[in-house]
Amino acid sequence: MLCMENVTKTYEMRRQTVAALTEADLSIPAGDFISLVGPSGSGKSTLLVMLGGMLSPTSGRVLLDGESVYDLDVDARARLRKSKVGFVFQTFNLIPYLTASENVQVPLYLSGTESNDQEQRAAELLDRVGLGDRLYHKPAELSVGQQQRVALARMLANDPAVILADEPTGNLDPETSEQIIGFFEEFNREGRTIVMVTHNPETAERAKRVLKLRDGKIVDDRASIQTVGAA
Ligand code: ADP
Ligand code: ADP
Repeated sequence: MLCMENVTKTYEMRRQTVAALTEADLSIPAGDFISLVGPSGSGKSTLLVMLGGMLSPTSGRVLLDGESVYDLDVDARARLRKSKVGFVFQTFNLIPYLTASENVQVPLYLSGTESNDQEQRAAELLDRVGLGDRLYHKPAELSVGQQQRVALARMLANDPAVILADEPTGNLDPETSEQIIGFFEEFNREGRTIVMVTHNPETAERAKRVLKLRDGKIVDDRASIQTVGAA
């Protein structure tokens, strides 16, 4: 279970105070699949990185499995994040001079996986996303859809219970987007909790729940159309 309790985030910029998120209360049960929608600048990215333990709120608490994430010291928080949370970004953030396999091995190395096991595990993860025949390609030698799949394999490396995705299909054509959303649905069926920012209304309805932000406030929280249709 992932929760926000009365979370506010303000940024101080050139003596101006910008309220990026205001008094957000949110409860995300394990296995939920949320899409986060709203205009540019409404606070989606801010909410996502605060959920993931990467940005301290100005006030309020974020709870992950009962632990108050920002009351932990920096090291303990980093450990919690690495063991439970996987991130995917719109721009993939792959390391350009490393192969697909090496990119996936980075989090395995950081979490202390035996070096003999790292390459094998990376191959399994890449195989899972259909890239078993691209292990030694570098990002520039892969299509954008393949690059995003490498990022998915890397995100899965430490078997995260929570997946946070900031416009994971924002740079992809409709067919490739469809493939990536299919993987998210599969990860969700495995019991992983997913929060995904998207600008695409059709993609948003593929989640179970749609959360809408406007001017830093949660203005709507509803079941997705497909969930309502299935009920
Ligand atoms: P989106 O999430 O819609 O792709 P961004 O999060 O990149 O867009 O930016 C949304 C708004 O936040 C923009 O108006 C941008 O100028 C502003 N913004 C993002 N990062 C910063 C920053 N580091 N400093 C100031 N403004 C920022
Ligand atoms: P979204 O992801 O919905 O586009 P953001 O969370 O990026 O929204 O931004 C919310 C608000 O916070 C915007 O007004 C943006 O300009 C501001 N903002 C975001 N990041 C920063 C930052 N690092 N410094 C200053 N202002 C920021």
